[in-house]
Amino acid sequence: MLSRRETKILATLGTASATPDMMRTLIREGVDGFRINMSHMRAEELEGWVRLARSAAAAESAPVAVVVDLGGPKLRVGSLPDGRLTLAEKAVLILGRDLPVSHPEILADIRPGQRILLDDGNLELEGLGAIGDGFQVRVKVGGLLLQGKGINLPDTDLHLPAVTEKDLVDLAAAVKAQVDYVSLSFVQRADDLQTARRAALATGPCPRLIAKIEKPAAVERFEEILAIADGIMVARGDLGVEVPPARVPVLQKQFISRANAEGKTIITATQMLESMIHNPRPTRAEASDVANAVWDGTDTVMLSGETAVGKYPVETVRMMREIITEAEQAASPRREAYRGKTRVHALAAAAVEAAEELHAAAIIAITVSGYTAQMVAQRRPRVPLIAAVPDEHTRSCLSLVWGVTPVAVPWRGHSAEFLGTLEPILLKSGSLKTGDTVVLISGSTKLRGADYIMKIHDLGSA
Ligand code: PGA
Ligand code: MN
Repeated sequence: MLSRRETKILATLGTASATPDMMRTLIREGVDGFRINMSHMRAEELEGWVRLARSAAAAESAPVAVVVDLGGPKLRVGSLPDGRLTLAEKAVLILGRDLPVSHPEILADIRPGQRILLDDGNLELEGLGAIGDGFQVRVKVGGLLLQGKGINLPDTDLHLPAVTEKDLVDLAAAVKAQVDYVSLSFVQRADDLQTARRAALATGPCPRLIAKIEKPAAVERFEEILAIADGIMVARGDLGVEVPPARVPVLQKQFISRANAEGKTIITATQMLESMIHNPRPTRAEASDVANAVWDGTDTVMLSGETAVGKYPVETVRMMREIITEAEQAASPRREAYRGKTRVHALAAAAVEAAEELHAAAIIAITVSGYTAQMVAQRRPRVPLIAAVPDEHTRSCLSLVWGVTPVAVPWRGHSAEFLGTLEPILLKSGSLKTGDTVVLISGSTKLRGADYIMKIHDLGSA
C-alpha cells in the first residue's frame, strides 16, 4: 500500500497514457483523476475515453475523477504548408494570409502596437495595421513555428464568447457521459460559468465546474469567479503568457489561499514536471515547484504533456507522488481563517478538534453531496479523513479534494443504523482496525433522520 498522501494528482490523458493497462498502472502509482483535453479532440471521441477511465478505476477499485477540459476560445495557428514556417526577425507578414489563424474574426480586434504571442510566448509579433481582411505584423522574436501552436493576445480586447460552439457540443457530450468535472478555458467573468451551467442543465445534471484562470480579465475578476465556480485551476501555461511570468507565483499563492478559505477545490497546473516529457528525472526546480504548490495548500497538482505525450508517464506520476509525500511529511499545511457559521462548519470544526485531541485513527464523514467532507478537509485535519459516500459521482469528485479518501457505502436511511453497515466496510478497507478510535460525523439532511451528529467510537465495540 502507498504511504498516506493528502494532495491529489490529476493526469492528462493522451497517446502516452490512454490504454487500459497504462491507466491502471497510473492509478496504482497515485493518479486520483484523469483530464480529457478537448482542445485536441472531437465530441464523438469523448465517451470512449470516459469509458476507458471508468473501467480502469473500477478494475483498481479506486475512486478516480474524470475532468473534461473545454478548449474555449483558444486561438491557434492554422494549417501551414509542410506544417511549419520559419519566422525571421523583422520580417513583415500578414496574419490571416501568410500565417492563418483558427478564428480569423479576431483579426478585427487587434490594434497597431499590440503584441501577438505565438507558441506560449516563445515567438512574438507586433501589430502594424489592418490590410484587407488580414492584419500586417512585424516579427519581433523569430523562430520556427509549427501549425496548431497557440496564439495569445494579452493586449487585445477580444470579442469572442468564452464558451464557443465547439465547447457547447463538447459540454453536452460530457454531461451525457456523466463526467465529474468540466473545466472552462479562458474564462473572463462569472457569467461565462453561468452560461456553461445553463447549457449543461438543459441536457442533464451539471458536472462540477472549474474556472481556469489564464486571462488578465479573470485575474481582475477572480472574486466573482470564485464565488460562482465549484473549483479553480491555476492555469499557469496560458496565464504565464498573458501576464508576466514573474507574476505567476504570486497569483498562485493568492488564488490557493482564497480558494482554501472558501472551501473550493483548487488545482495547480502546467509544467510541473515538464522536463520529464523527455527525461526520466525532473529538474530540481520542478521538484521544488511541486513541493511549493503542496505547501501553498493546493488540493491537486496536474500533469499535462508529461502524461499525455511524454516518454515517462509512469515515472512522472511516481516522482510527483514522492515529492508530495516528502513535502507533506516536512510541514503541516497552513490553516486559513474560515468563513461560514453554519451547522456543517461547526460540526467539521468539532470533529477535527476531537480527532486531534484523541489522536483518533480517522475522521469519518458521512456525506451525500460531499460538502461535509469538504468542510472537514478545509480545516486541513492532521488525522486521516475518510468520506463514506453512497453516491458514485460524489465519490469520484471527492478524489480531487485534499486529504479525502472516499469509500463506497450502500445507502441506509439513518446514521445511527448506518454505523453498523459502515464498520465492516471500514475494517475491510484496510486502513483501520478493530479498537481504533474514530470520530464519525454526519451532516447530511438528505439522510432521513440524520440531523447533525458527531460520535466518538471505538471500532468493533458496537
Ligand atoms: P491547457 O490549460 O493545458 O488546457 O492550456 C492549462 C494552462 O493553460 O496552464
Ligand atoms: Mn490554457
